[in-house]
Amino acid sequence: MATESALRLALHGLDPCVHCGFCLQACPTFVATGDESDSPRGRIVLMQQEASGAIDVGDQNATYHLDRCLGCRACETVCPSGVEYGPALEAVRAESNLERPLPLQASLALTVFAQPALRRPLLALARWIRPLIAGLASRSRVGFAAGMLAATTPWRPAPRRGSSPPHRPRGSVAVFRGCVMEGLFGHVNDATARVLAANGYAEQPVPEQGCCGALHAHAGLHDQAVALARQNVLAFASQPNASIAVNSAGCGAILKDYGRLLKHDPLASEAEAFSQRVRDVSELLAEAGPRQGAPLKLRVTYDAPCHLCHAQRVTEPPIAVLRAVPGLDLPVHTESDVCCGSAGLYSLLQTPLSQEILDRKLAAIRQTEPDVVATGNPGCIMHIGAGLRASGGGGGGTIPVVHPVEVLDRSYLEAGFY
Ligand code: SF4
Ligand code: SF4
Repeated sequence: MATESALRLALHGLDPCVHCGFCLQACPTFVATGDESDSPRGRIVLMQQEASGAIDVGDQNATYHLDRCLGCRACETVCPSGVEYGPALEAVRAESNLERPLPLQASLALTVFAQPALRRPLLALARWIRPLIAGLASRSRVGFAAGMLAATTPWRPAPRRGSSPPHRPRGSVAVFRGCVMEGLFGHVNDATARVLAANGYAEQPVPEQGCCGALHAHAGLHDQAVALARQNVLAFASQPNASIAVNSAGCGAILKDYGRLLKHDPLASEAEAFSQRVRDVSELLAEAGPRQGAPLKLRVTYDAPCHLCHAQRVTEPPIAVLRAVPGLDLPVHTESDVCCGSAGLYSLLQTPLSQEILDRKLAAIRQTEPDVVATGNPGCIMHIGAGLRASGGGGGGTIPVVHPVEVLDRSYLEAGFY
């Protein structure tokens, strides 16, 4: 009963639901299956039944449909009643994990992300093999994994020259470097630091930082997520006056939520202060202008990561970043704010549904005929990148999927800022 009470408390955010159904067509899993139990409204009923004791926590049918939720939070954006779906889903998953262990592949992945001694050599190996396996990209499970890794390859070589010319100072910034971002997207972290410097933000190093814990929280591993959050709150206390710039939407969403995650922790007030300092890199750049670079003749389709547009409600700043590049053609992508099916470990655990959701995204992207796709989250870059490689245009004909700051960085390089 203690478990049920704790769950009921965590599910208060669902109380405003009036079961109107406005959220149904915004939900990628409902659109794919047409099953009410795969919709936000259906899942809210299942969660409330678990919390009230009407069904057992971990009930097989409820778990089946809750596991199929992407956690994309598109339902929150469209909900007129202000239902807080994401935190409730995390709480239910945490309770379910008391009844059943996570699948082995998920446990292994989450252990590796949390442990630098395991993560660093494995991701170094991954960087080494990615050029060798790029040609293996396909729709098979192994081929898709190869495509995901190949999609982390830098878009262009890093600039040889050093720092940008002086610009009006805008304050100091500490870049959150993450785990997968640092291991596979170090080039994006470096581009982030360069474009911030070019816009007047002075970078302050925070060497003790680590994994944000987002994937652990989404998988219901509450205690592990809290431990990782505490480590980051303490690490960034070394730069108390710096904004915390993050370039991964999934990381940014939980970093901005550390105040809630550590609400009952001795570091609660420090966590809240930490969260107040966190900004997506596009928010900082948009505040700065951002500075215009050299023209690039490219057709760039922007795809909005769920954890940026729904969880953080950051929609315009990434477009402002791209508009700072003269000459870019930015076609409207009608499915930009719909989940691509990556969703943390979802593509690993719910592969068929993940692929179905991805196919819809790829069709919408291809309609815009882009030279480049830009999106601000590593999972989306890998998932969309692998999909594009696997569904035609593989090898040399692949449409690159990059972070928006990489486009601005290339423009700044052409302008001679570096
Ligand atoms: S979550 Fe919001 S939009 Fe969906 S049924 Fe409930 S009140 Fe309506
Ligand atoms: S989080 Fe996404 S997949 Fe889950 S119910 Fe909401 S809209 Fe549907």
